[in-house]
Amino acid sequence: MTAPNNRTPSLATRIAQALRYLDPETGAVIPPIQPVATYARDREYQPLKPYWYRRDGNETTVHAEKIVAELEDAAESLLFSSGMSAAVAVIDAMETGAHVVVPEVMYHGVLDRFQNAAKKRRLDVSYYPAGDLDAMSVALRPGETRLVWAETPNNPYWEVTDIAAAADLAHGAGALLLTDCTGTPPCATRALDFGADISFHSATKYLNGHSDITAGVLSVRKTGELWNEIVLTRKLQGTVLQSFDAWLLIRGMRTLFLRYERATENALAFARHFEGHPALEAVLYPGLPSHPGHEIAKRQTGEMFGGMLSVITTGTEQTAIDTVTGCEIFYPATSLGGVESLVEHRKTVSGEGFPVHPRLIRLSIGIEDAADLIADFEQALERAVVSS
Ligand SMILES: *Cc1c(COP(=O)(O)O)cnc(C)c1O
Repeated sequence: MTAPNNRTPSLATRIAQALRYLDPETGAVIPPIQPVATYARDREYQPLKPYWYRRDGNETTVHAEKIVAELEDAAESLLFSSGMSAAVAVIDAMETGAHVVVPEVMYHGVLDRFQNAAKKRRLDVSYYPAGDLDAMSVALRPGETRLVWAETPNNPYWEVTDIAAAADLAHGAGALLLTDCTGTPPCATRALDFGADISFHSATKYLNGHSDITAGVLSVRKTGELWNEIVLTRKLQGTVLQSFDAWLLIRGMRTLFLRYERATENALAFARHFEGHPALEAVLYPGLPSHPGHEIAKRQTGEMFGGMLSVITTGTEQTAIDTVTGCEIFYPATSLGGVESLVEHRKTVSGEGFPVHPRLIRLSIGIEDAADLIADFEQALERAVVSS
């Protein structure tokens, strides 16, 4: 699309207009919702491709996929009914016995599925501390490793992985690199441009941004055998994102740049305010110069660090829990990347067997007034410390 003055509209413009969607018949600027389970054949009894049946996908979802592919600079994007169903599709597509390298701490559901696959001897899994490229390099087996999974920034400590360097390592060993950059969506980090082969996002989070659907998406730089297997898995398992949810996702993505920018501003103000606070032992936010991944994050996000951060309180585990329950503006809920701010005691939510600091509080900073968020957390923290 070229504007009259020969200027190519920027990504922000194209996304705000949902790639300038225009219904050819009605002129509607918003795509339709198509709740349908089956599609009729034509008079010659030929299927009117590309859809035969609900599990194949639908028009709204395909338009949402085009928007994500544009955001990601991808050859193709595939939407799933949740981030987890997208992650499991990748795991299922790996050959039995394949060697994979994954972070030892990451999003708990994905880690669980890798641990489960290892336990059943479906996959041969090696672990590395998130963000540690030397350890990743040691875990790689040249010629044998098939996939490296990197989550950056990494839950819940927000370690940053240098995607370009990780891609070089993975490729040097003959493996593919998959990144989970859910915390910094493609308006900030385009993982494929840094050399990742597959980009995963929980679209439940920033891409949708309104906490009203779950969705997951995989995008690739180059399609191939593994991709075809993933496509088939989604189709036969019926884990494709459905029309109404895709419609909500399109609606959400139109404001992605705006929401993400505001969340970043708010999180920076919040992190700067609480860094060095006497009731906190640490503020973990890649946007702070004190964060070990700051320089890489700066480069990898274009200084758009996002709204995710964690703090470690002083006192006891109960101090952290009391701080969470004492918040009045932050919702005490899991998830992230929505317009509303959330707070959670990560150890309680992740469950037993997941290594996380007992006094760690994870915050998803939304688009509210930053001063309100700071005041709310301040009062909750002070009350929790006084009562401990
Ligand atoms: C939420 C999340 C997932 C899982 O996605 P769902 O949409 O909840 O299934 C995976 N990775 C990260 C980093 C997440 O935050």
